[in-house]
Amino acid sequence: MSWSIPYFDLRLGDEEAAAVAEALKSNWLTMGPRIGTFEAAFAEAHNLPPAHCLAVSSGTAALHLALAALDIGRGDEVIMPALTFVADANVTLVQGATPVFADVLSEDDWTIDPDDVERRLTDRTRAILVVHYGGYPCRMGRLREIAERHRLRVIEDACHAPFSELDGRRLGALGDAGCFSFFSNKNISCGEGGMVVTQDDDVAARVRLLRSHGMTSLTLDRHKGRAHSYDCTLTGWNVRIDEIRAALARVQLGRLDEFLEGRRRVRCWYLDELDGAGVTVPFVAWDREPRDRVRIGYHIMPIVLPVDADRLAVMAHMKERGIQTSIHYPPAHRFSAAEPENHPALPVTESVAARELTLPFYPAMSREDVRLVGTALREALAG
Ligand SMILES: *Cc1c(COP(=O)(O)O)cnc(C)c1O
Repeated sequence: MSWSIPYFDLRLGDEEAAAVAEALKSNWLTMGPRIGTFEAAFAEAHNLPPAHCLAVSSGTAALHLALAALDIGRGDEVIMPALTFVADANVTLVQGATPVFADVLSEDDWTIDPDDVERRLTDRTRAILVVHYGGYPCRMGRLREIAERHRLRVIEDACHAPFSELDGRRLGALGDAGCFSFFSNKNISCGEGGMVVTQDDDVAARVRLLRSHGMTSLTLDRHKGRAHSYDCTLTGWNVRIDEIRAALARVQLGRLDEFLEGRRRVRCWYLDELDGAGVTVPFVAWDREPRDRVRIGYHIMPIVLPVDADRLAVMAHMKERGIQTSIHYPPAHRFSAAEPENHPALPVTESVAARELTLPFYPAMSREDVRLVGTALREALAG
């Protein structure tokens, strides 16, 4: 299927191609200088020491390492939203811990509800995993206050939110660990990739070991004659990134400010276009906040269809017009692998998830593209 307006359109340029070519010509493809350069640039952007940003093979790996580095496992409960990508629940289950789902705030704000988090605390709760949905900030003040009171860890899933900022502080760098994804349709793309960031020396050291089998030296150290052997001080995985993808991600990171400007422009066009279309657009209160207070990552363009709309029919109509749409997300507590019978109802999550539609969204969209999407959506809703 070739879409006239895809859901996401990755436009890599000459700079990305040159960086990848340069990495290939170096003849060193695994853990090396380009990964270090990318981590250092990411660290600078988050006001963290370079050793506190660890690039890994995916956002999922970043989440998994964050849990493992914080020693969350068997017998532990992690409170998280269900209106998120399934990776959050999956890595928790793989660690042997239990995801406990909390509802999101409202139809207008799809981040985790701190009051509901408090209701779901037990003596086994060890962490709160928060998701900055769409790049919009969670209620971090309240959440951190709950975490402090109950001695819980806070992990930020910031996969939608690189360079999102609240009161001068970047999301992902506010909790015990923050996790980013560089999957191809994320705001920074390198194919598959991710990053763990942390303010904690000990967590950083553990993530560094865990991403590479728990080994105390790298192939590069041995190649350079800096080490001859190694010990394994933790049991880890191989979830390393490589030089090619790090080179690509570094260029994309340098372009993120430009991408976010584009995303903001497209978001404004959508707000204009969808005015009076009969759909709910979440998070508009954040859009109205002064720009020196918040900066939003604008990762996706989610809307809520009217109660009586047939979502699949709307998607089919838009597909006929060459417009690709998506759903964010089928809620995690309803997947068969999550054993839905064990999870209580989440009224806001379920109501939003049943009617959510994600419209095409990428920095290079034109006003005309947005108009075509708006027109197709109105036609579809008119039946
Ligand atoms: C993309 C994403 C992930 C997983 O990242 P991958 O790089 O695809 O493994 C996790 N959480 C959220 C919210 C995401 O959007």
